[in-house]
Amino acid sequence: MTSPGKPDRVAWIQGPSARCSPLPERAQEPLSLILLGAPGVGKATQADLLHQRLNACHLSTGDVFRAAGSRAECDQSPAIKAALQYMRRGELVLDSIVWEMVLERSGCLRCGDGFLLDGFPRTLAQAESLKQLMENQRLDLTAVLNYRLPLNEIVARLSGRRTCQGCKAVYHVTERPPKAADTCDRCGGKLHQREDDRPESVKVRLETYETSTATLIDFYQRLGLLVTIAARGSPEAICERTIAALDDWRKRKAALERA
Ligand code: ADP
Repeated sequence: MTSPGKPDRVAWIQGPSARCSPLPERAQEPLSLILLGAPGVGKATQADLLHQRLNACHLSTGDVFRAAGSRAECDQSPAIKAALQYMRRGELVLDSIVWEMVLERSGCLRCGDGFLLDGFPRTLAQAESLKQLMENQRLDLTAVLNYRLPLNEIVARLSGRRTCQGCKAVYHVTERPPKAADTCDRCGGKLHQREDDRPESVKVRLETYETSTATLIDFYQRLGLLVTIAARGSPEAICERTIAALDDWRKRKAALERA
């Protein structure tokens, strides 16, 4: 979901041949953030709210795959067709496919409003490739936001999640229902349940998170970039908590740099 005057992420979703709308000048220093956390912890919802508050562009790898999957089959590359098979089963897409897609879109990491990477990196190999790329291009990462939530709450969130087919805004049947049933409040688009939010795929996704992605918590902790946030409460409360944790984090970092 993007808003007027904010990055519209066209180049991310459609690929580098598409151009994002020009951005207004901003006084603020842009933030470069990675959002970590198990599937269902609310990363996409937080990315959407943080985008509204901080302007940073929401770069979700899952959204790129889903957008490619909604194109006619004859327009899908063999790599995308393979990616969609993994995705439907709730498994991770091969690192080589994901990396090729991210590399093609690496210009988005220089977005004037900063970025919120959601769903990437997800394996140690992806994290190392990203680190190398950012070092080569002299790009700094501000912080890695690590959202934490107990497993039973994650399962409840995933099973009730509904996504707008148009603008990708995220709802929940009981926690964050739309005003009119199955209809997006923002764009009037139809809400649907993602294929991989069905119980059999959810189980695989949570196991995959534990075996592959949770190792990134240590990786970023060792780099001194990890900011852990409790993902309990309303989306707005979690967003406030995130902004406060980030402010606190930046102050502590600045103090350390001065010392
Ligand atoms: P969630 O975080 O809720 O699982 P995403 O939209 O981030 O949702 O990802 C959906 C699916 O897309 C994943 O289960 C996986 O199959 C695929 N995917 C997205 N990003 C990556 C990635 N960085 N590496 C491997 N697979 C990915």
